[in-house]
Amino acid sequence: MAATILDGNKIANEIRAEVAAEVKALSAAGVRPGLAVILVGSNPASEIYVRGKVKSSEELGIYSEKLTPAENITTEELLELVLELNQRDEIDGILVQLPLPPQVDSKKILMAVDPAKDVDGFHPVNVGFLSTQRPGLVPCTPAGIIEILKRSNIPIAGQEAVVVGRSDIVGKPVAMLLINGNATVTVCHSKTRDLPGVCRRADILVAAIGRAGMITRDFVKPGATVIDVGVNKVTDPAEFARLFVGNTKREESFRTKGATLVGDVHPEVAEVAGALTPVPGGVGPLTIAMLMANTVNAAKLRRGTRVPELSRV
Ligand code: NDP
Repeated sequence: MAATILDGNKIANEIRAEVAAEVKALSAAGVRPGLAVILVGSNPASEIYVRGKVKSSEELGIYSEKLTPAENITTEELLELVLELNQRDEIDGILVQLPLPPQVDSKKILMAVDPAKDVDGFHPVNVGFLSTQRPGLVPCTPAGIIEILKRSNIPIAGQEAVVVGRSDIVGKPVAMLLINGNATVTVCHSKTRDLPGVCRRADILVAAIGRAGMITRDFVKPGATVIDVGVNKVTDPAEFARLFVGNTKREESFRTKGATLVGDVHPEVAEVAGALTPVPGGVGPLTIAMLMANTVNAAKLRRGTRVPELSRV
């Protein structure tokens, strides 16, 4: 039987509606959550991401501000900008869009963001809060993955979860959230022995690798839930054929565009898995939705209000 496709757009819209209602309630109480996004220079991909974040904020009633320093900004100048935002009371969330230009010390900048306003959840203080199950700000993509599981009624407690990838942005925090949710978690990486065998143990398999269609059917236990985080652009016709042979819709679009987006999970996995997130339209839409939720969480945390259930396991 074919896997149930977990619709990320639908879940993201549910969360957005909840966030909009919270923003309305907070604004009525005199607190309008505010998000500042810093975009250095003119990286086309970053510009698209930032536009999406600002647009989403506006739609949900969150105050947003876009700061666009020039490409040649120094670490010290950018640091000053971040410190200024740290001080401003109407700004609850600060997001520094990565990558930063090479002359800027990215680690220094990210460390300077007030942890209470760190809506990306990358600051070591928030990493520590997550690992010790204290209220804090959780990275958006991992938090979104948990929301997909919870809202699709996929149990976490007691399940075998395997995460492929150990980055600070996705792999490690999603593993931590799954542990906090009482799953039995294995984290794999490029040095893991018998990766297919380890993955086949999973009731929940999370692929956060960055390799087009690497997870094939022999990695997946029949009926498992597979979360595909990867976003990979395929331009090579032979690689395209390995992934999408016989898929006429994709073939047509590949012919016209010369490229297609694919996750880390091979499409054939849909024949084995119990549930699967598509790419595009799976994990991706949750990332911005959770950024909005984090901005509201940040506003509440900083003002000592209760942290909502959203993004907590
Ligand atoms: P990183 O490159 O930081 O990490 C990749 C991880 O995969 C590493 O831990 C690496 O192992 C592991 N890995 C690489 N090759 C193999 C292999 N052959 N076998 C086993 N493990 C391997 O990537 P990110 O975590 O930042 O991103 C992962 C993917 O998710 C990317 O495609 C990215 O574009 C996508 N992404 C999507 C988001 C969304 O919103 N949908 C948000 C963020 C990321 P090692 O540590 O040993 O090198």
